[in-house]
Order: sequence, then C-alpha cells, then structure tokens
Amino acid sequence: MVGGGQLARMTQPAAVALGVRLKVLAATAEESAAQVVNDPVIADEKALADLRAFAAGCDVLTFDHEHVPPFALEALEADGVLVRPGSVALLHAQDKGVMRSRLTSLGIPCPRWTIVASPADVAPFAASVGGDVVLKTTRGGYDGKGVWLVPAGTPESSETVAEPFRAGVPVLAEERVDYARELSAVVARSPHGQAVAYPVVESVQRDGICVEVVAPAPGLSSELAVEAQRLALAVASSLDVVGVLAVELFETVDGRLLVNELAMRPHNSGHWSIDGAVTSQFENHLRAVLDLPLGSPVARAPYTVMVNLLGGDLPDVYPAYRHVMARDPELKVHWYGKGVRPGRKVGHVTAYGSDLAELRERAWHAADYIRGDIDE
Ligand code: ADP
Repeated sequence: MVGGGQLARMTQPAAVALGVRLKVLAATAEESAAQVVNDPVIADEKALADLRAFAAGCDVLTFDHEHVPPFALEALEADGVLVRPGSVALLHAQDKGVMRSRLTSLGIPCPRWTIVASPADVAPFAASVGGDVVLKTTRGGYDGKGVWLVPAGTPESSETVAEPFRAGVPVLAEERVDYARELSAVVARSPHGQAVAYPVVESVQRDGICVEVVAPAPGLSSELAVEAQRLALAVASSLDVVGVLAVELFETVDGRLLVNELAMRPHNSGHWSIDGAVTSQFENHLRAVLDLPLGSPVARAPYTVMVNLLGGDLPDVYPAYRHVMARDPELKVHWYGKGVRPGRKVGHVTAYGSDLAELRERAWHAADYIRGDIDE
C-alpha cells in the first residue's frame, strides 16, 4: 500500500487476519502506518523510481490516498505492475473535472457543473443555474480545502472568485446543492467483477471535515438506499474500479440523489465497518485487490455510530484517553498514532446497538472529552 496514513494503518489488522503480508511505502517513519508494519519503506510517494523499487517487492500495488501522479501509475502499469485500482479508474478520484464529465456521460445524476477558465466565467454560470455556485480545484483538494462557496451576485473581482484559479489547475464550478444531508455509498469490487455494497450511511461534515457517520442513514427510504447502492455499483463497474469505492452523495431537500465525489480506497464514511459490519472495508479492500472472494458487508447491529476524534487544545490527551475507556467499556476506541493538533483527525470511536440517540450521546461524549470541550 502506497501511503502511510491511518487508512494503511487500519488495513494492517485486516492483513494479519487474512494471512497477507502488508508492505507500506510511507513518507516518514513516524507516519501512522509506518509505526505498525514490519520494515516500512520510507520513500517519496510521488517519485517513479521510488515507486518502482517498492513495487518490485509486491504482488499488487494499492493506495491509501489519491496523490500518486497519473504518469507514475501509467509507467508502473507499463512495467507490468498490478496497480489496483488501475490508473484509468483512479483518475476519476484524482480529477473532479474528469469525474464530472464521465459520470455525466454515464447518466449518473450530478449537480449542474461546468469547467470555468477564468473568474469572468463564474457569473454567467451562476446566472444559468440561478443561484449560489461552488468552485473547486479539480485536483489536489481534500477535507474541504480547495472548495469555495460563491454566493450569487459576488463580483468577479472578489477574492473568493479569484483564489481558486491561483492553484494553476482547471476550476470546476457547480450549482450549490440545496441538500438535506450527505450520504455515502461504499462498495467493494474485485477484478473479476464480484461486488458487495455496504449499508448506505449518513455523514455529517463540519468545516469541510467529516465528524460523524451513522450506519445505516436514519430514516432513509429503502427506495433511495437501493438507488444509492445501485448507483455506486454502476460507477464501480463502469469505471472498472478494483478495491473499495466510496460514492459521496447529496440527498436533496426534494428527495433526489446527486453524486458529490468519488474515493477509490477505504474511506472515512466506512470506518464504522471495523466494529459494525461482518467484514470491514479494510478487509474487503484487501480481498478485492488480491482477487479473493469478498466478505459480507452486512451490519452486525441495527445502528453503528462513528465519531471522529479531532485534536483540541489539550496537548496531553492521556488522561482523557483513560477516561473515555473507563466511562464506557462498550465503546470501541481507535487511535491513529498521530500527534494532537487542533482540528486534526487523530482517531475515531464507534458505538453500536439499537438505541440511536444513546449511541450518539456516548460516541460524542468521548470525542468532546478528548477535545477538551467537556470535563465530566
Ligand atoms: P473535498 O474533496 O475537499 O472533500 P468536496 O467536493 O467533498 O471536497 O466538498 C466538501 C464539502 O463542501 C462537501 O462535503 C459539501 O458539504 C460541500 N459541497 C461540495 N460541493 C457542493 C455543492 N455542489 N453544493 C453544496 N455543497 C457542496
């Protein structure tokens, strides 16, 4: 696995159980996954020579992020390396413009969109959609960085309109969707086309960062749930995705589904599956990229709530760490081995059972306590 973040770290226990040796290429020995695998390879994840040397010791290459440049992926494939997901599929998770254009040609519902060449193009697009616009850098954004909301009537000289163009990559303009909530449909697909769909979840974002996931999405009609799963399975097969695919969706106030974006790797909206599903997304990602039979994605409990642990102002979280475990022995606590900084994802907690309100209270209590927002 290329990338030494928490996704590679959480893949390691799944590899242990499957009897698979997980090798990790990480940027530094301190990274989340480099701490937990044998002999991590410390190298440059974007340098072709480093990737080639790493791939030589692997049966199959997969990723914990989308940042390996397309030219390097293509060169590895030309060398005969099994790259999963492949470069063609992965491009749709790396470039939001490519993603929008392909999904639109497949008839998958998306927000109205266009590629804008300059700030002067934004107002005409806003007029055509009749409201606010969201501008996005087509490459390199994450956790809401690279996304700007431009209210209707904002002059083209304003900073919000100018800034997205500074990165020097094409800019995607979308209508601002009036959504009731955000959903995510996670599926896993293997090279010979077996696929499984996890229950559709609700994901709650704050300041562009996912803070809470509830599986399954409360109150979602079975029609929309099945439609979301069908949509994700259709994207996986049409783009020939191998591994986990997360399709982030908007549920609009008038009850439609629109695709926001794609991730082709285990995803934050699937972390609940470690404790809450028969087979975790990490295990199914490994099974898929190794072309093994996939495991059941079925939930173990009526509800699972996952809340991200974000760093707060408490530099020493050890007392809080002990407190949350002592207060709630049924809470599952996951730490990523990362230093605490305000707003940084340092772990997550999961609670599962049947009383959704109680599960949310318990999971949020732990997250608020760790961040230092409450002390009892
Ligand atoms: P990132 O790649 O940084 O995760 P996203 O494209 O997922 O960026 O956008 C981040 C957040 O911005 C979304 O979770 C959503 O809350 C909001 N957002 C993105 N696109 C739109 C849109 N077209 N309409 C309304 N809100 C949007």
